[in-house]
Amino acid sequence: MTYDSDNIFARILRGEIACEKISEDEYYLAFHDRYPKAPVHVLIIPKGPYLDAFDFHHRASSLEIVGFYKGLNAVIEKLQISEGYRLIANSGHHGGQEVPHYHVHLLAGRKLEKSIV
Ligand code: 5GP
Repeated sequence: MTYDSDNIFARILRGEIACEKISEDEYYLAFHDRYPKAPVHVLIIPKGPYLDAFDFHHRASSLEIVGFYKGLNAVIEKLQISEGYRLIANSGHHGGQEVPHYHVHLLAGRKLEKSIV
């Protein structure tokens, strides 16, 4: 599968679709999920055109990878979710990924039910 530059998150990155932004830098953008599944439901996405977790870790530069995960940490710090949180990266068809641009869900703000793992 090749990267589709018309996916929703690519359009958000280009400013064609609005989002409720939390923070960003040259490596990442963090914004609220439009259909939140918890009191805190944030999406963190890399700025580059990567399909999923494997594609990002395979093709992105070390700088992009470190920058992205440092950004994720900055979001965790900013949201003050000391009671805990969950990170999810749905990848591909069996992983339930709907938007084909790598993203990490950050869920917090209540005790989350146990998922499959
Ligand atoms: P996935 O199922 O691909 O892991 O997650 C995609 C997420 O993107 C879903 O949680 C969905 O609610 C969210 N989403 C879909 N369209 C939009 C949108 O236009 N804006 C925002 N902020 N979130 C979106």
